[in-house]
Amino acid sequence: MPRLNAGIASFSSVVLSCSVILAPAPASFSSEGPSPIDHRMTVTLVPTAHTLRVRDTVTFPMTRDKAVTFLLHGQLHVSIETPDVILTKEETNVRPSSIDPTGRYTPQDDRIPVTRYRVLLPPGTMIFTLSYEGQINQPPIAAGDDYGRTAEDSAGVISSDGVFLSGSSYWYPTFEDQDFLSFTLDVEGPDGFGFVSQGTRREYSRDDHRHLVWHTDTPQDEIYLVGGKWVEYVRDEADFTAYAFLRSPDQALAEKYLSRTGPYVRMYEALLGRYPYPKFALIENFWETGYGMPSFTLLGSTVVRLPFILTSSYPHEILHNWWGNGVYVDYREGNWCEGLTAYLADHLMAENRGEGPIYRRTMLKHYADYVTGSQDFPISAFRERHNSVTRAVGYGKTLMFFHMLRLELGDQQFIDALRTFYQENRFNRVSFSVLADTFSRVAGSDLRPLFAQWVQQTGAPVLQVKNVRVEQQGKTYQVRARLEQVQGGTPYHLRVPVFVTAEGEGQAQMQPIVMNDRETDLALTVASRPIRLDIDPEFDVFRRLDRAELPPTLSEAFGDTHALFVLPTQESPELREGYRRLASAWKLTMPDAQIQLDQELEALPQDRAVWVLGWNNRFRREVERSLTSQPVQLTEKDLVLDSARIARQTGSVVITSRAATPPFNAIGFVATETAMAIPGLSRKVPHYDRYSYLAFTGEETKNILKGEWPIISSPLSVRLSDPHDARHPIHPPRKPLIAVEP
Ligand SMILES: [Zn+2]
Repeated sequence: MPRLNAGIASFSSVVLSCSVILAPAPASFSSEGPSPIDHRMTVTLVPTAHTLRVRDTVTFPMTRDKAVTFLLHGQLHVSIETPDVILTKEETNVRPSSIDPTGRYTPQDDRIPVTRYRVLLPPGTMIFTLSYEGQINQPPIAAGDDYGRTAEDSAGVISSDGVFLSGSSYWYPTFEDQDFLSFTLDVEGPDGFGFVSQGTRREYSRDDHRHLVWHTDTPQDEIYLVGGKWVEYVRDEADFTAYAFLRSPDQALAEKYLSRTGPYVRMYEALLGRYPYPKFALIENFWETGYGMPSFTLLGSTVVRLPFILTSSYPHEILHNWWGNGVYVDYREGNWCEGLTAYLADHLMAENRGEGPIYRRTMLKHYADYVTGSQDFPISAFRERHNSVTRAVGYGKTLMFFHMLRLELGDQQFIDALRTFYQENRFNRVSFSVLADTFSRVAGSDLRPLFAQWVQQTGAPVLQVKNVRVEQQGKTYQVRARLEQVQGGTPYHLRVPVFVTAEGEGQAQMQPIVMNDRETDLALTVASRPIRLDIDPEFDVFRRLDRAELPPTLSEAFGDTHALFVLPTQESPELREGYRRLASAWKLTMPDAQIQLDQELEALPQDRAVWVLGWNNRFRREVERSLTSQPVQLTEKDLVLDSARIARQTGSVVITSRAATPPFNAIGFVATETAMAIPGLSRKVPHYDRYSYLAFTGEETKNILKGEWPIISSPLSVRLSDPHDARHPIHPPRKPLIAVEP
């Protein structure tokens, strides 16, 4: 699940050699993981008082001849119930490291006090019981920012609104040498409250009180307990139960999710192997989240009602039961599960819509816009997403790596490797090294250098094409060119798809060019006169894109942390103050940004992105000038584009372009006549950062227009005959890894 404040652990570098003998598959492994420590807990929750009372019987899988230590929330009062077991408080205000020696990652929150206890068991004893009670109340607060997407996070809260307890809450004894755990929770709470945890549920009544019992014997990383006043919807599938828990009755909404759960689970079973849990529950959370836990997902009230979530976040969270919550991540070498899940969910959905190239281009654009200079880091240092930089590397670069691996191996071998990886490692905690070994074994070749190149190295290749020429040879033509990697450091091993479009041919010819050096000469033969040459036009290679390959979009202007906001002097005080507040809000994610009045400036600076605010801004004409090559007209009175006319009196407009001179920095323009619309713009526009232009109407800032400028020229596309031929190379779309049921 996405949480905050990832630490960066050191990792030992893998020594590479060309002729490594690959380790065979482990001779014996338990497909259901190692023996866990078992917790049998009765839990009573009093949300109005923020308290819990727990009786926990702990069973170790083997006898302990030494004392064991565990961590527990510091405000819980503990007593031991088993005779002859000695409990001592060892240390208060413990600061556990976020990655423990077994590779498990537990995000740490300074607001949760943690105490270490020592337990000494009599010889031969494997079981003991302890009781504890107290308050856990850390309501969700804003944590991290993702360019306007404010995330809230809690490390544990028991309240009338709802209950959220996880490993980070230290609400159960966490043994420091423990690898995995299993549990039975018998939960009792006030009337109207429901509770969910991992595994299967049964229920019973005692003294007129409803008890919910959640049980799992498959090894788990942590114990979740979430609660709320929910309406429950159920659907039985062939070998699991689908649930929807909503905060208000909504049969239609529940039906939407329940009817998709079975098809998604079956699709991933067909692709990867058996779903590892007896249920999957959609739970409406009491704050805005998009968390995927083992056998359930917690989505906020707004998120759960967004129509596109059903085909984006929902399959993503379901797939986390294979990656992250089925095969666990050993975080010591980095987090592989987010990129793999995004590749097989978000990218798969896009590929099924025929939009794979657009999706990949967006990933590369995020990297180009947000990951600049010293902000870059290797995938091996990724733990979780907490801003646009970590998203671009941890999700974007990682999913592009899996895409390149697929192209290297071919679809069938790629799928075989994933299935093998899942089957061999279910309920175990594994690292990138295990992935590399498994893929190498299935492919029959050593892929570890490829893993090292993408996982451990910082940065990305930059491609250029030179010396393009056409030679006629009898009846055929040969396109010759030199392909170069111009980034610093060691050249990458790359497989670059090269497209040639020839006269009279309906489709481009594609040939992958393998590059192991800085320069590679290519020669492609075609039967008729070639029209154009395109290097990686479908964005199959993770690389730093040239600005000219991309339409200018808002993310470029948001990505420059040194941006300058230019306020209009000639504007009503109300509007000017509105723009100032908008600039201050956006500046929170741009620590070095500045705000100035237009009258204080001679000219717009050329060395940074600028945001020109207001119709009456002195520099509006500069914005107009920067737009001359785009199909748009910005005038005194209105904005005309996409055959739409946005009148200045009623609409709010947001436009991006680039400065006319190198380094072609981004220019953003925000203008409205409605001061009441500015707070809405301030909040909403960052969510539209992949667009080039936007228009909104009214004080409620309803979006009425959004779009991207066309790409005018790419340095990796060379027109060989007509220089003005703007047609894109046509190539049949790649078959998706698996078809998504409509
Ligand atoms: Zn995820």
